[in-house]
Amino acid sequence: MRDPFVVVGGDAAGMSAASKARREAPDREIVVFEKGEWVSYGACGLPYYVKGEIQSLEDLVSVTPEEFREERDIDLRTGHEVVAIDTEARTITAESESGTVTQSYGDLLIATGAEAVVPSIDGTDREGVYTLGSMSDGKELREYVARARDGEGLQQPDRGPACRYLEDCTGPVGVVGGGYIGIEMAEALAENGFEVNLFQRGDRVLKGFSDETSEYVADHLREEDVALHLGAEVRELAGGDRVEAVVTADDRVPVEMALLGTGVRPRTALADAAGIELGETGAIAADAYRETSAPDVYAAGDCAEATHVVTGEPTYVPLALTANRHGRAIGQTVTGTPTEGGGVAGTAAVKAFDVEAARTGLVDHDKARAAGFDPVSETVTAKSRAGYYPDGGNVRLTLTADRDSGRVLGASLASEYGEGAVHRSHAVVAALSEGATVADVENYDLAYAPPFNTTWDPVLVAAKVLG
Ligand code: FAD
Repeated sequence: MRDPFVVVGGDAAGMSAASKARREAPDREIVVFEKGEWVSYGACGLPYYVKGEIQSLEDLVSVTPEEFREERDIDLRTGHEVVAIDTEARTITAESESGTVTQSYGDLLIATGAEAVVPSIDGTDREGVYTLGSMSDGKELREYVARARDGEGLQQPDRGPACRYLEDCTGPVGVVGGGYIGIEMAEALAENGFEVNLFQRGDRVLKGFSDETSEYVADHLREEDVALHLGAEVRELAGGDRVEAVVTADDRVPVEMALLGTGVRPRTALADAAGIELGETGAIAADAYRETSAPDVYAAGDCAEATHVVTGEPTYVPLALTANRHGRAIGQTVTGTPTEGGGVAGTAAVKAFDVEAARTGLVDHDKARAAGFDPVSETVTAKSRAGYYPDGGNVRLTLTADRDSGRVLGASLASEYGEGAVHRSHAVVAALSEGATVADVENYDLAYAPPFNTTWDPVLVAAKVLG
């Protein structure tokens, strides 16, 4: 019998692969090494756990370690960090409290994920500076919020409570980074009564989205009293033992806590040390079947590159569906049914208080030009429901296409929360995946009923305007 299918990393990509392999091959030995205690957890839910909408960390777990072991017959070893891969001997070495083990593999999946980037500035090691990449980060942040809300002395001398909603709350706080984690955390903190300052190096939030979407979200953040500091590169997190201020070139903003939402980088050290090729993006390179430069060694999820459906080039978009989908495909491949992982369009969504935003494909004209297209965009503001139907709002949609061919390249959308910006992006994703033109999209037979849209859905309106 073939040596075991060994997985390094027990979250989205790793456990999807292990579970699929188990379903396809009931007798194959499957061994998963996870350095932490949590497996199959939804990091995406952490901002809502910190906010208090999700009650316990356990609620974020979709399958427990016991279920993997007892019901899925997967040899799951938590508390085991894989420290080396030997692609010649086809073994991995893992360390745990009980010692070092060597495990041989027939197939190996590297699913080590990504880690939060800590910028190289002074003060990131002060107390009160947080990142949000792991379950333990989420726990620490929630505890901070609870302590502050309970008024346990986090106020600093000379500065009384500065918060708007809660008498006993301390503030202000700083969020560094205007990407989706920064924005979700700005909401989580503001809804808990903190006065939030959000610092963004560039001149707009959500830089992968269109200017119009960024503006829409920024306006709403301001309406919610988030102080936006745009074009504000953070130079230092100043203070004593604790952080006391966020320092930019022009400003020194007092804070009692700082959350770094400054991006993630793929965890590649293990693969790199084993001589496995990294791609130009810095993540692990893999072919359509997710196989790396080492035979029978696969890579999936936030540690790996994927192929962009529009450009056909390698790209790095660390998001959950890709991890799950690529993991699942690998589970099939290693059990005898070679399965491609599929491409990515960089489709992403974010909620900011009472608005929602989505993006997919090539939105930025410079990036589209670099990929050989001649991009043209139109922005429409169209009703989200029939005009006579109660409530509703507008969807603001920027659609981008190639001028000559008419091929749809991407879209960026925003609406009030619940008015469908995110779900409407899915029609554009389908167009991107099929290489459809604006004229094709104009003829899409989208559903219509007054509570959901107008006869001509905003996606069709945008295609008509751009066509
Ligand atoms: P990970 O989830 O990072 O898991 C990797 C695992 O490998 C970890 O458990 C780690 O402990 C383990 N590991 C690493 N090295 C070793 C080693 N040497 N030995 C053993 N184990 C090891 N994505 C979305 O699509 N939508 C969202 O709304 C969204 N929100 C997010 C919000 C937050 C706050 C965060 C942090 C992420 C969010 N994401 C979101 C991203 C999403 O969580 C990731 O894309 C997804 O978790 C990637 O899964 P993965 O299995 O590749 O990696």
